[in-house]
Amino acid sequence: MDLFEYQARDLFEAHNIPVLGGAVASTAAEAINAAATMGGKVVVKAQVKIGGRGKAGGVKLAENAEDAGVKAEAILGMDIKGHTVHKVMIAQAAPIAEEYYMAILLDRANRNFLVMASVAGGMEIEEVAHTQPEKLARVGIDPNVGISHAQAIEIVKAGQFPAEVVDQVADVLLKLWAAFVAEDATLMEINPLVKTEDGRIVALDGKVTLDDNAAFRHASHADLEDHASANPLEALAKEKHLNYVKLDGEVGIIGNGAGLVMSTLDVVAYAGEKYGVKPANFLDIGGGASAEVMANGLSIILGDPDVRSVFVNVFGGITACDAVANGIVQALEILGSAATKPIVVRLDGNNVLEGRRILNEAAHPLVQQLETMDGAAAKAAELAAK
Ligand code: GDP
Ligand code: MN
Repeated sequence: MDLFEYQARDLFEAHNIPVLGGAVASTAAEAINAAATMGGKVVVKAQVKIGGRGKAGGVKLAENAEDAGVKAEAILGMDIKGHTVHKVMIAQAAPIAEEYYMAILLDRANRNFLVMASVAGGMEIEEVAHTQPEKLARVGIDPNVGISHAQAIEIVKAGQFPAEVVDQVADVLLKLWAAFVAEDATLMEINPLVKTEDGRIVALDGKVTLDDNAAFRHASHADLEDHASANPLEALAKEKHLNYVKLDGEVGIIGNGAGLVMSTLDVVAYAGEKYGVKPANFLDIGGGASAEVMANGLSIILGDPDVRSVFVNVFGGITACDAVANGIVQALEILGSAATKPIVVRLDGNNVLEGRRILNEAAHPLVQQLETMDGAAAKAAELAAK
């Protein structure tokens, strides 16, 4: 789960990382109130889960509370790279002397964590890595060992921070690491980490991704979810413990196993080129394709108004094809008249002949079977184009 900047700010504050005051507002009136309480100059910042807000005009300095209202009015409702701004953060303004960069992230390729620190912050770090790589320290962190004080100092020096801030920045790095571990994050980024004109080091922007697999250890993380912009079908799927991702095409996809579903997306995308149709979703019903799981999966996909045909692609393994076929037949009974779109089924693997026989015998008017994955993808694409 990615957090909004204001949530990241709160989390940083809870872990003693130096931040400035911040409050969230959904209307210009709330923005004025927040700015008045804070007093002085404030920065009005669009709350969207995408970078580059500054360049897009989503970060504006306001002279006073009234001005904060004007700036909030301009930013609320703005579209930033496809994300609509529903909230702004009113942040205490900082007189910036220098902008730095610091991040800790999960490094999947190397199976550990990676710290990045650079004296060159504010801009996109990819650009720094490209144009001034000597100013970017990249250091792997063994999760079993963590970061020692001496190592933190070393990393900050390697990032070419000026001598007078090394101790303070190293201290922030140690606190960021402690927060990263305590919250089970996969990313914590501060860009910019600034030196103010009076020499303080402060995190001015935060980007945090929490590991959903560790959600059971953090009851409080559920409160951070963004219900307002969650896709209702994705929310329903989550409730039913299904692995579902909404996409923007027309062919609904159900498969068992993430790898099979991903390759199904590929063959449907390929077959659909001819008709101008694409996969409408990713849905992995996993190993045990019981009637209930199949019914839940089908009802979510059929509930998507964009879907015009469905492709059920199953490779029978421990759950054999006959069990899956029975699951499909019973699911269609459960759904009754709620099932309205053509369903193409391709079964293969364990007990395939019995599975196909069961579906043929049931002879449901919406269901047709094809024996190959490519053939079924082509049929599903053709039906979606009709
Ligand atoms: P991003 O563009 O989405 O990464 O948004 P940031 O929060 O990083 O803000 C972009 C830029 O706005 C920063 O790099 C700063 O230069 C500037 N900025 C943000 N907050 C303040 C502030 O409190 N005071 C001043 N003077 N500038 C700020
Ligand atoms: Mn930033």
